[in-house]
Amino acid sequence: MVDRATGRRVLILGGGAGGLELASQLAGRDGVEVTLVDREMTHLWKPRLHEFAAGTVSSTLAEISFYMLARMRGFHFEQGEVRAVDRTGGRVELAPMHDEEGRELAPARFLAYDLLVVALGGVTPDFGTEGVAENAVRLDRPEDAEDFRTRFAGVMIRARASGMPAEVVIVGSGATGTELAAHLRNSETGFLLRGGKAKAERLLGITILESADVIMPGIDDALRAKLVERLKDLDVKTVTDAKVAEIEPNAVRSVSGERWPADVAVWAAGLIGQPVLKRLADFELDDKGRIRVDRTLRATVDERIYVMGDAASMVPKGSEKPLPPTAQVASQQADYLAETIPLLLKGQPVEPFEYRDRGRLVQLGRAGTVGRIGSGHGDDFLIHGQFATAAYNALQRQHQWKVLGRLRGTVAIFADMLSPAKGPALKLHG
Ligand SMILES: Cc1cc2nc3c(=O)[nH]c(=O)nc-3n(C[C@H](O)[C@H](O)[C@H](O)COP(=O)(O)OP(=O)(O)OC[C@H]3O[C@@H](n4cnc5c(N)ncnc54)[C@H](O)[C@@H]3O)c2cc1C
Repeated sequence: MVDRATGRRVLILGGGAGGLELASQLAGRDGVEVTLVDREMTHLWKPRLHEFAAGTVSSTLAEISFYMLARMRGFHFEQGEVRAVDRTGGRVELAPMHDEEGRELAPARFLAYDLLVVALGGVTPDFGTEGVAENAVRLDRPEDAEDFRTRFAGVMIRARASGMPAEVVIVGSGATGTELAAHLRNSETGFLLRGGKAKAERLLGITILESADVIMPGIDDALRAKLVERLKDLDVKTVTDAKVAEIEPNAVRSVSGERWPADVAVWAAGLIGQPVLKRLADFELDDKGRIRVDRTLRATVDERIYVMGDAASMVPKGSEKPLPPTAQVASQQADYLAETIPLLLKGQPVEPFEYRDRGRLVQLGRAGTVGRIGSGHGDDFLIHGQFATAAYNALQRQHQWKVLGRLRGTVAIFADMLSPAKGPALKLHG
């Protein structure tokens, strides 16, 4: 039970799409003291990782310092790797921090809380597939995007010099895989330009492998048809029923023995909770390693702990499946917790969280955006073109407003639009 006389300390673990929106909206509300913890020094909005990976958008301009944001929005920021939650003592342990030479920068620390929010996100699982860790890139962290961009630039420079196209193979046809493919096609144009003129030849082969019998399983047929059409326009090859057995250093091999040459292989198949969630405390986890919560997002084992975003497994009323791991869900949960936490701290009852599915949009670079939007009550419709692109961008604009506030958020949005890094098809450096 939260101590109502003094219980104002809210500790948020993870400053991603959900945790940072919550910290920014909750800080100072009704005297709540917010501390945000993240292992990174800067926030980079995860739904754009594929754009940074493809080099079509500058990550340096999009990164926001947690230290500066904390000062601006009135919360405390503590940088460090979350190691354990001591539920009985009401405190969280952060691992010691070291520099690149292994010298200690900060010792292990303990942070006390009255109410804890776990927003540590998720990772792409390899399902025990051989060679994924060694030979494939997964887009889980900013350094993964950086790693991909470096490898991709290298193989494209070689392709340009030799005239032999580079091959990128993406395993998984979800939004991450398909959007990355489209942005890579955009990047290719930067390498084709010589003396200001684009040469006609292809310097890049892109293949998406999907283990199911259709691409992007889970979307409806009409939307899939639009997606397939756009991928064809982009000259992206898709292969279904491709069950991958191994990622080799220069190829992807299927269970049935087929091989696809790959200068760079990307593993973008599914999402599970951060591995640290298993070790944090004795939480109840679902089959994807996410913490089970009730409909107010409270952990099933502890009334002082709430979980949100990709780390949470919440089954909405009338459904059998947990909510999907999307920024849309994380953002709505941040709004909800920003409203309910002040009430919870006063010991007042709260209404359950209700998710409003605003639809699904896939941004395919110069082939535009396709998707389905609506209220989630059966009145949704298929969209594409300018309207779809505007709707896709809206999620990010809302994130910027919530994190930076209306005024600074608007300035950041204009700066983003006018940024020179937005212009060229490709960015090759930091
Ligand atoms: C390429 C790509 C494209 C996507 N596109 C879309 C889209 O178009 N629309 C959509 O709705 N969703 C999209 N998503 C999904 C969306 O990014 C996630 O669902 C969303 O980011 C989840 O938010 P979160 O706050 O739960 O976790 P995250 O945003 O992942 O944040 C987790 C935070 O926790 C920190 N952290 C993790 N472990 C530790 C630790 N041990 N100690 C300290 N800090 C830690 C991380 O540094 C990070 O800041 C996309 C995802 C990817 C990868």
